[in-house]
Amino acid sequence: MKSKVFCPVCRVSFLVQEPVQPGDALICPVCGAKLEVTETGAEIKARRFPQEPLVEITERVDTFARLKSYVFNENKSLVLEGLMQKFETYGDFYCPCRFDNVPENICPCLETRMNQVRKEGSCL
Ligand SMILES: [Zn+2]
Repeated sequence: MKSKVFCPVCRVSFLVQEPVQPGDALICPVCGAKLEVTETGAEIKARRFPQEPLVEITERVDTFARLKSYVFNENKSLVLEGLMQKFETYGDFYCPCRFDNVPENICPCLETRMNQVRKEGSCL
């Protein structure tokens, strides 16, 4: 049986194969976020996997790139640095290339999740 899980990072629901237990780690197939199952039952609830912010964002961008078969350019460490600055200043990993610190710009930003990289060759 498959059940729905809501991703608190990209705010999209995805399906997981049961059985799932509280404490299990899941990867959101849309944004690459690592999640921890907090509740099971009719609806599975999950939160961001508790881990150090730098580990969280590094794993997320690596997972997202792997899911999409993308490769990083030479600016990867600068982008991670920018993401950490946004996290420290604004409380989440908003895209360092974008001005607005809104949920759609949480890395990977909505355009990137909607395949902008595939269409245009890069994110922004
Ligand atoms: Zn997600």
